[in-house]
Amino acid sequence: MRSHYSSEITPALEGKEVALAGWVHEVRDLGKLKFMVLRDREGFIQVTGKKDACTEDVLKAISSVSRESVVEVKGVVKKNDRAPGGVEVSPLSVNVVSVAQSPLPLDVTAKVDADIDTRLNNRFMDVRKPDVAAIFKIRSAVVSAARSYLDGNEFIEIHTPKIIASASEGGTNLFPISYFDKEAYLAQSPQLYKQMMMATGLDRVYETTFYFRAEEHDTRRHLNEVTAVDVELAFIKNEEDVMNLLEGLVLSMIKAASDCKKELGILKKDISVPGKALRISYGEAIEMLAAHGKKIPSGEDIDTEGEKLLGEIMKSERSSELYFIYGYPLSARPFYTMPGDEKYSRSFDLEYKGVEVSSGAQRIHNYDMLLSQIKAKKLDPESFKYYLDAFKYGMPPHGGFGLGIDRMMMQMLDLAIREVVLFPRDRHRLTP
Ligand code: ATP
Ligand code: MG
Repeated sequence: MRSHYSSEITPALEGKEVALAGWVHEVRDLGKLKFMVLRDREGFIQVTGKKDACTEDVLKAISSVSRESVVEVKGVVKKNDRAPGGVEVSPLSVNVVSVAQSPLPLDVTAKVDADIDTRLNNRFMDVRKPDVAAIFKIRSAVVSAARSYLDGNEFIEIHTPKIIASASEGGTNLFPISYFDKEAYLAQSPQLYKQMMMATGLDRVYETTFYFRAEEHDTRRHLNEVTAVDVELAFIKNEEDVMNLLEGLVLSMIKAASDCKKELGILKKDISVPGKALRISYGEAIEMLAAHGKKIPSGEDIDTEGEKLLGEIMKSERSSELYFIYGYPLSARPFYTMPGDEKYSRSFDLEYKGVEVSSGAQRIHNYDMLLSQIKAKKLDPESFKYYLDAFKYGMPPHGGFGLGIDRMMMQMLDLAIREVVLFPRDRHRLTP
């Protein structure tokens, strides 16, 4: 229906006939002059109906069309220093393709900022706002960058089941579903499946995936349906190989977001790409926190408050926004985590501006060790039979991580998690 997007209409096209299609953003009727601002995916263009230059039908269509209706405009490009971008279109025809009812559920011109719930209830209209659309354009660029980084590093994208028979990491936090005459669950992560792939010879796999987590959160950074990049790689020396890969991946994602200049301009945001990710041990992290008055008992996980404070300390004392905390206590990590020295483990979290964006580790690849860890965590080996079998017939050393896409987006853009997910699922929200 269109020959050009609005952004492609430049003064250089003076005199040329073009076909535009989009939404009526604004209409101004000054009698002899009728302005319509047409909005499409790429921006805005002014359509100017002049009494002596346009037909009666065209002028009538402009003055009677409701805001947010879909229109098709054919017209001639005209330079005009007073028009935005120095250019406008003089219409030859205006066809109203789909009439918008009024009142509108949301003001797309964003003069009145609606609350997030009204916005989410009317997401189809909320995303018409250029600043909201910009978030999802950046998100697309970020996911695309993650895929190309992994594809370029010899990874294979896989897809594992989201309907599963038993818990991946213990019994809690699963959504039960009815599966014919059985009970099943929504997968909380592809963990066990991607590890099983390490016994196949595919060596390096990833999945852009959903995690379903039945956790009753009410925070800025948790959802019950999460999108993530989940990675596993074999023939590693230790968890450092995994951390190096994750560092490269995350930097490529931040770089891709920072390259979205037009969208960042619309959002009035700037993203700085860290040079590298620092590495601090769990022990150092809790010492730093203790020095700032926050006591974490050794062996315990760092809580949200501690994570946030550490983010501030790392920024002010080490100029670092992106850092690994490695060597967590084994007791704080899942059963498949490779033990390290003493009570520690070969695991890590990646923190970005004081929020965890990824967890990973070297995994146990020895069958007997894995079995004893399952028992030590009071889990039933029988429900892990298919997983455990993959460790009996040749399993290479391996490790991996899960990286939250929603978390990355919220941290890069400094927004709440529900703003960077199209149709978020949280404790109170199941529609739209
Ligand atoms: P947290 O401690 O922050 O609740 P987690 O340790 O339970 O997260 P992991 O199981 O380590 O999460 O999942 C890997 C990554 O997936 C996390 O680092 C995060 O980026 C993302 N993630 C996990 N759970 C959620 C959630 N409920 N909402 C948003 N992102 C999540
Ligand atoms: Mg984690």
